[in-house]
Amino acid sequence: MATTTKDYYATLGVKKTASQEDIRKAFRKLARKYHPDVNPGDKKAEERFKEISEANDVLSDEKKRKIYDQVGFYSDQIDPGQAEAYARRQREGGVPVDFGGFDFSGFQGGASPGQQQSGSSWSSFKDIFSGIFSGAQQPQRPHGPQAGSDLEYQATVDFWSAIRGGQARIQIHRQETCPTCHGMAYTGGPMTCPECNGSGQVTQMGGRMKFNIPCPNCGGTGRISNECATCHGEGTVSRTETVEFRIKPGTRDGQRIRLQGKGNAGINGGQPGDLYVIVRTGTHPVFTRVGDDIQVKVPVTIAEATLGAKVDVPTIDGRAQLKIPPGTQSAQKLRMRERGVESAARPGQRGDQIVTVEVVIPTLNDERSREIMRELAKLNNQDPRVGLFEPL
Ligand SMILES: [Zn+2]
Ligand SMILES: [Zn+2]
Repeated sequence: MATTTKDYYATLGVKKTASQEDIRKAFRKLARKYHPDVNPGDKKAEERFKEISEANDVLSDEKKRKIYDQVGFYSDQIDPGQAEAYARRQREGGVPVDFGGFDFSGFQGGASPGQQQSGSSWSSFKDIFSGIFSGAQQPQRPHGPQAGSDLEYQATVDFWSAIRGGQARIQIHRQETCPTCHGMAYTGGPMTCPECNGSGQVTQMGGRMKFNIPCPNCGGTGRISNECATCHGEGTVSRTETVEFRIKPGTRDGQRIRLQGKGNAGINGGQPGDLYVIVRTGTHPVFTRVGDDIQVKVPVTIAEATLGAKVDVPTIDGRAQLKIPPGTQSAQKLRMRERGVESAARPGQRGDQIVTVEVVIPTLNDERSREIMRELAKLNNQDPRVGLFEPL
C-alpha cells in the first residue's frame, strides 16, 4: 500500500520554516541533479525527480503550502476554508482524521493529484473527503459549564402594594438542575464505546479506499456515558415554581425587577440565569396613578364652585382638605403638592395629587328654588356664549 502523507519538506531538504527563496533554491539544486535529461534511462533518478517536483509544486505555492501545513497533505479537493476549520478543530483538541491508512495509489500517480480526476475513485474520494471536512466544521455540544438562560415574566401587583411596597409572588416555569444527575446529564461512569471498541476511530470504505474517521457514536473519545433517565441527558428538568419577591414603595408600572439566579439552571455547573419580573400595577376605582402623581375627580356644588369652599377630598393617605377658590370652573385642575406617591427612584420625594373639579348641576324640584335661580339669572345676565360669535 502506498502511503500517503508525504513529507515535502524532507523531500526538498528544507526546514518547515523555510522561506520561498529557500524552497526555490533547494528545488533548483535537486532538479539539476535528478533531471531526466542529465540521467537518461535512470529510473531511480526519474522517480526522485517526480517526488521533488511534487514537493515543489505544493510548497512553492503559498495557498497550497498553507493547506498542506494545516491538513498534512495537499489535494485540489480541499478548499482553504475547510482546511482552516480542520486545523482549528485540531488546535481545540479534536480527534485528528487518520490518513495513515489512506491508499492514494488508486488515483495518485503524478505530480499533482488534481490532474487525474477521471474515474470512479476520484468522485468517491471527493464525497468521502467533503464528509470528513464538513464533519470537522460542525459545532459540537460543549462539554464544559454552560450558563442558564434568563427568564422574563410579567406580574400584576395591586394598586396599594405598588405604592406602599410589600411582598408579591409569581408562578413561573423554569429549568432546574436535575436532582438525579445534579446537572451533569449523565449517571455512572463512562463506558467503552461499543461502536469503536474504545479506539475512538472507525474504518470506512470508499470504493477501493479504506480509511479511519472519528467514531460518530462517541465523537472520537472512545467512551460513552449513560444518559440520565430523569432529564434525558439535558441536565435540567422543567419545574413550576412560586417565586416571592419584594416590591419597593413607589414601584411604577412597567418597572423591571431582577431576581439574580432565579432564571434557568446552568448545565455542568454553569451559573443559573436571572429572572426579570416586569411589574404591572393594578388600578383603583377612585385614584388614577400617572408616574408618581395621583389623579382624582372631585365633584363640587354650584355654590362651592362660585363662592369658594373648603372640601374634604380623598388622598392615598386618607382624607385631606382642599380649598376650592371662588369662581372655580368645571374641569379646572387643582394641584395638591406632595400628596402623590413616594418616588422609588428618588427616596424622600413625593409626587402631587391633581384634582379635577366637576361642578354638579342640581335638579331643582321645588318652586322656591326655581324662583331663586331665575332671580339669580336676572342679576347676572352675562352671556357665556359671546366668545363663540366674536370670531365670526
Ligand atoms: Zn466510539
Ligand atoms: Zn439528570
